[in-house]
Amino acid sequence: MIPFKEAKAIVQKQLSQLDSELVQLKKASGRILAENVVASFPSPRFDNSAMDGFAVRANDTIGATKENPISLKMMSVSAAGMPSDVEISPGECIQCMTGAAIPKGADTIIMVEDSSGFSDDDTVQIMVESHRGKHIRRMGEEMNEGDILIKKGTRMTPSEIGTCATFGLGELTVFKRPKIAIFGTGNELVEPGFELKDGQIYNSNLFVFADLAAKAGAEVIMRNVIKDDKESLRAFLSEALETCDVIISSGGVSMGRFDYVRDVFMELGVTEHFWKVEQKPGKPLFFGTGNDTLIFGLPGNPVSSYIGFMEWVWPALESMMGKSESKPITGILAEPFPREKVKTRFLFGNAWIKNNQLVCKPASKIGSHMLTSSLEANCILSSEPGESVLQVGQKIRVNLLPWKGLKSGKVL
Ligand code: AMP
Ligand code: MG
Repeated sequence: MIPFKEAKAIVQKQLSQLDSELVQLKKASGRILAENVVASFPSPRFDNSAMDGFAVRANDTIGATKENPISLKMMSVSAAGMPSDVEISPGECIQCMTGAAIPKGADTIIMVEDSSGFSDDDTVQIMVESHRGKHIRRMGEEMNEGDILIKKGTRMTPSEIGTCATFGLGELTVFKRPKIAIFGTGNELVEPGFELKDGQIYNSNLFVFADLAAKAGAEVIMRNVIKDDKESLRAFLSEALETCDVIISSGGVSMGRFDYVRDVFMELGVTEHFWKVEQKPGKPLFFGTGNDTLIFGLPGNPVSSYIGFMEWVWPALESMMGKSESKPITGILAEPFPREKVKTRFLFGNAWIKNNQLVCKPASKIGSHMLTSSLEANCILSSEPGESVLQVGQKIRVNLLPWKGLKSGKVL
């Protein structure tokens, strides 16, 4: 059994970044950028109107009111996508729609609401005074050509996808997705939707793994529940070692008589880097490599499996995909946390903001078989080993589950 930090360092050493590939922007959701995205033009690209209205010269509007409107000669129309090349002189104006280029000679926009309105007449009445630049979106006011828009290592979300579209990028260079195999072991496991016989339970772990893997951005290419027999394990694992970047198992790595997973890994020539880590839950964690494939053998208890994936597999997948490392977050305990003498202790928990501070508390159900403890949770809390319980007001590491929001004010 080795300390948590030592085990982390061992995994870190085995991680290497995957190659990059080109993907279409419409398929880039969740992918991680393999290069900076740079603005190839300023934004806005040209001075344009922020309102539907009239492009005028500010000097021509001096003194204009509802009671004493000023009449301007209408020269042309500038619409979004159809700019006018007419240049206006004093006393003239051009109808100018939102997003349309500001015509030459104009230096401000009068909203249509402050005029006698759009018409085919030769003149329009302007009813307010304006100043230069009003309602004009200036070229480059948002971004300059050459500015870095999004940094390498960023995960693509709607904000990044929209920004890339704004700057005309139809394709992006992203890191390849790790190909992964997930499997569960146990003669007791039955797939949801089928009937249970005495002593059987439903396989939940692979459903959790599959969703976590998809959320991390990996591609599950092999998935199976395998009986506790060496032959079936061998067949699945030898194929997974050939085809996958990462193998993740649940169950079968403890001290039970039928826990064969580790034995089969060894028979297949896998190098064991460690087995058993000073952590709770999830002590019998196996980590090995074989044929450039990383292997994480997580224990079968559902909470151990879930937390094990988030603490061990998720960061490994992100690192392989070139994701920039997230900074560790700490919160202040609102309830005591049951620290362990020699083990790193993990529990699902809740974190929320109170008085501008991140406050947190562990879930009330703490058994490693109690998966429902994750339902209300939005984070995993973890404490380093220590002599006594961590008390209210003390700091603790918070691993926010990225798909759950931060609660504000109070917790359920
Ligand atoms: P093991 O690590 O194989 O000793 O399993 C530990 C506990 O987790 C046992 O109670 C198993 O029945 C349970 N378990 C193992 N695999 C799964 C799974 N895929 N889904 C839900 N529970 C599981
Ligand atoms: Mg088992």
